[in-house]
Amino acid sequence: MALAKLDDYRQVVGDPEIEEMRAIARQLKGARMKHINSTSVGGGVAEILHRMVPLLNEMDILARWEVIKGGDDFFNITKAFHNALHGKPENITPEMFRVFIDYNRKNAEEMDFSQDDFVFIHDPQPICLIEKRAQSKAHWVWRCHIDISTPQSDLWEFLKNYVERYEGAVISSPSFSQKLSVPQFLIPPSIDPLADKNKELEPRFINSVFEKYGIDRKRPIVTQISRFDRLKDPVGLIKAFKMVNKKLDCQLVLAGGGATDDPEGLLVLEEVKAEAEGSPDIHILHLAPGADLEINALVRGSSIIVQNSIKEGFGLTVSEALWKGKAIISRPVGGITQQVLHDVTGLLVHSTEGLAYSIRYLLANPELASALGKTGKEFVRGNFLITRHLRRYMLVMLSTRFSGHKEICL
Ligand code: UDP
Repeated sequence: MALAKLDDYRQVVGDPEIEEMRAIARQLKGARMKHINSTSVGGGVAEILHRMVPLLNEMDILARWEVIKGGDDFFNITKAFHNALHGKPENITPEMFRVFIDYNRKNAEEMDFSQDDFVFIHDPQPICLIEKRAQSKAHWVWRCHIDISTPQSDLWEFLKNYVERYEGAVISSPSFSQKLSVPQFLIPPSIDPLADKNKELEPRFINSVFEKYGIDRKRPIVTQISRFDRLKDPVGLIKAFKMVNKKLDCQLVLAGGGATDDPEGLLVLEEVKAEAEGSPDIHILHLAPGADLEINALVRGSSIIVQNSIKEGFGLTVSEALWKGKAIISRPVGGITQQVLHDVTGLLVHSTEGLAYSIRYLLANPELASALGKTGKEFVRGNFLITRHLRRYMLVMLSTRFSGHKEICL
């Protein structure tokens, strides 16, 4: 299906928002912008860039997206970094730092920044590409999508040296802010309401997806959509579900695929399968990349969505669920606290028992679930759609172009 055009978003966010975006974009007409991250499939960053890059181009900002390459050794190291930034102690050795820098330098050799006006480097994996800044005229921004509020100190010292060579850092949540010598911009990520992942679907299609996976729509369905990652705590969710399922006839769907920069996915999938063994009401769906319409249908056809992450950058899946008017239950971690306002747009829980209790509570009170979902949808419309995200990126670009204004924080 053809990708949505900027004007198609008028029906979702209204004319003034689109006019404002076009007005800002005119100030950046012809600018060359490069985004670099570490995977083209799986995970929130890829999800956003797939939609953002074409929309930037439609506004005459010449955006491109490149992905760094790495072997298993590199991605094992970056996964260890990811875990250590999220508070899981990891033994990060000098050798690991060396390999990390080497891969970045190898990638840098193959990349040309001479024509770029703006370079946005996403997350820690490609962070050392900043070494190329001296050979380019571009403004360099580090876009951090993860929670760096309590990083392992040796790793943070290493990364911070690179972060401070950028002109600014973009973070997703105020609680992620670190003491830095460069300006920090607070910009939550976003979802695309017109993408296959989020657009309205025919009820017949939704039914067909549940039929395909043998899930009974006549009984309540609790769903989590996530990569199989321990930080999303799928095993904890299964434990909570089992408590609920003892007293209530319902089903659990855990659906997700992997990301090419996450080597632990298959291992975690096995752990999840082992925990679910012998429970016919638990459906574990290993989805292929690009199963966006199916994910959309699974969320729309579910009674409740859970995002049981114990650490989270932003948690796009939360906005995706709220946009579909679904009540969500989550832990208050990372960017989830910006999206789930307790008892307003969803429920926040602090333990497996609390999760089980809340699942039961919402399944028994569908009117409440529906009211939370409705409020959630409007909250997402006002705060977490791609249009606002793009507008804020353009403002960051302008503010770095007119740099010297170190105090500017959007
Ligand atoms: N996602 C997907 N397929 C999957 C699992 C997740 O397309 O099998 C999408 C999900 O819908 C969301 C993104 O990947 O858009 C995950 O982003 P989030 O911020 O929730 O978590 P991350 O994976 O980046 O930690």
